[in-house]
Amino acid sequence: MNTHFELVAALPAGIAGLAIGSFGTVVADRLPRGESLSRPGSHCDSCGRALRAWENVPVLSYLLLRGRCSSCGARISPRVLLMELLTAACFVGFSGRLASYWALPAYCVLSAGLIVLSAIDFRLRRLPTAIVYWTGALGAALLLVASAGTGDWGALVSAGIGGAACFAVFLAIFMAVPRGIGFGDVRLVAVCGLMLGWLGLRVVPLGLLLGFVLASVPALALVALRKANRKSQIPFGPYLAAGAIVGSLFGPAIIHATGLF
Ligand SMILES: [Zn+2]
Repeated sequence: MNTHFELVAALPAGIAGLAIGSFGTVVADRLPRGESLSRPGSHCDSCGRALRAWENVPVLSYLLLRGRCSSCGARISPRVLLMELLTAACFVGFSGRLASYWALPAYCVLSAGLIVLSAIDFRLRRLPTAIVYWTGALGAALLLVASAGTGDWGALVSAGIGGAACFAVFLAIFMAVPRGIGFGDVRLVAVCGLMLGWLGLRVVPLGLLLGFVLASVPALALVALRKANRKSQIPFGPYLAAGAIVGSLFGPAIIHATGLF
């Protein structure tokens, strides 16, 4: 496993991550409203003024503008900054942790898609089917390219099994406890299983377990604060996505070090 940090790969990966993360904020913002992704160009949501080129640079513009529109002073959501930084962190992370660069485009696309879906699920409690399908289809195609490049076709079979197994398990949960999870979670977990499965079948249960553990934190916090009731639904998607990303980044190393799973 190639786990050393190579600037030659990390730097372009980070820049691509900032750019794609910035596009991801546009997708997360506009797609649920059914708006065009390209028109109108980037503008302030409050006063509608079109952004100048320098106001549209990921992270840097947010810091230079101190998180406010330069015309009307309206606050720019820190979600924009967070999504750009998270996407870049994922791209840099995968550039250093994957055994082969052949798999890097697939893991960048999958993590970027999962971050967009998480942002939408947190805000609107939905996982738009189109984004789940695009992330899954593009990710699967790029994993096929990765297997062709590395000659490791077993990894592709493992990805298929991981995706199908996760889908089947969550479909069973959905049918047994329909109010426990949404069908969006069933679709999403198939993408997570694909992502984890390419790295080895043992990474799949580890990634899912991470998702459940992460989701239990806010759930337990709500119970502790006595705020939990039937209406306080916690979106599951972002935690499944986080489990898949963290599991893909560190799962193989955790399994290697501990011999678990
Ligand atoms: Zn404005």
